[in-house]
Amino acid sequence: MTQPDPTQDHRQRLLAQRAAVLAPLSAQRAERKRADLAHTADAHVDRPEDAPAPVAGDGDGESALTERETAALGDIAAALERLDLGTYGQCTDCGGALSSVRLQALPEAARCIACQERAEQLPPFVRA
Ligand SMILES: [Zn+2]
Repeated sequence: MTQPDPTQDHRQRLLAQRAAVLAPLSAQRAERKRADLAHTADAHVDRPEDAPAPVAGDGDGESALTERETAALGDIAAALERLDLGTYGQCTDCGGALSSVRLQALPEAARCIACQERAEQLPPFVRA
């Protein structure tokens, strides 16, 4: 029997997390498309020249992501990249090891707790 690869576990968790961020989004998008169609049909049926140009199904792609979701997806993508590079679990600031407890709680964590706290105390424009 081979030893289970712990990074496989983290990878699975990261992929599941990414799917969890994206899943409600596509459902939401489908829902909104239905609502838009209904609204357009109701409101503009007698004045078609005043109706805004109908959205042809595209154009609302990435804009549906909130800032927080975009950041979360970025963190997850970066963590997956670190898994590939073999630097996963190392703090991106000080290079120290992240505790397995921290990685269990937050698989996309890039910094150790000390560096994370320091980073969060800085105003955003100072953050690298
Ligand atoms: Zn650190």
